Amino acid sequence: MNIEEMNVLVTGASRGIGKRIAEAFALSGANVVLNASRESEHFTNTVREFESAGYSVMAYACDVSDPEAVKGMIKAVNDKFGPVHVLVNNAGITRDMLLMRMSDEEWDDVLSINLKGTFNCTKACVRSMMKQGFGRIINISSVVGLTGNPGQANYAASKAGMIGFTKAVAKEIGKKGVTCNAVAPGFIESDMTDGLSEEIKAKYLENIAVGRFGTADDVANAVLFLADAKSSFITGQVITVDGGMVM
Ligand code: NAP
Repeated sequence: MNIEEMNVLVTGASRGIGKRIAEAFALSGANVVLNASRESEHFTNTVREFESAGYSVMAYACDVSDPEAVKGMIKAVNDKFGPVHVLVNNAGITRDMLLMRMSDEEWDDVLSINLKGTFNCTKACVRSMMKQGFGRIINISSVVGLTGNPGQANYAASKAGMIGFTKAVAKEIGKKGVTCNAVAPGFIESDMTDGLSEEIKAKYLENIAVGRFGTADDVANAVLFLADAKSSFITGQVITVDGGMVM
């Protein structure tokens, strides 16, 4: 399949990395479904931007941690575009806190959205992908899932969980023409990293081999590469997009 024939669902596409990934697919001519947790001003603005650029786009707000809501979203996509060919599990949150002070809610929220959300969306799409003999599942993990990070026990566990999930699913569905890979971004300029102090940012920068922070475009390029039909022999992998921060 060529990218312009694909129906692509990007979760968490109202802003940041997800929005850029969706734009990259839309620019290549794909039908793109933008998901966000809820209707919000920035989500409406993003959808308007896509529409006025003339992209083939559909918007659907729902919480990916809610399995019934996700089933409703996939049905709506089927009704409008047909089956999903590419699923990008990008929706994610952080609730940073040292373990000793981390609340049950901070743990549960991060695991529910980042990891269970990935499970919910994948489960809802995988049957039709296997039936059509083509599919691409691309999970946006994090280098933190490989290295750990103080204050992020919940986030690191969710992102490491996504990597284990990626490998298990890749083994289950590979023979049906469906690949499942993870992209692990390092430090990417976005709302998620804007809140960090200049001191912490400078510390990160010292460890990035290419000497700059990443952009959402850097991540989108890796996702597009994995979605391409020519990437059919790559599955169960974790592609780090981190400028050489973790080697
Ligand atoms: P962001 O700017 O904070 O955007 C997060 C996106 O996820 C938003 O579109 C948000 O929608 C959506 N979202 C949050 N909770 C959701 C839910 N329950 N259901 C559906 N959508 C939900 O984040 P980002 O920096 O672009 O990060 C995107 C992904 O990359 C995340 O998985 C993150 O962990 C990963 N990542 C980021 C970095 C980085 O440096 N930025 C590094 C490594 C990995 P709303 O607008 O509705 O809130």
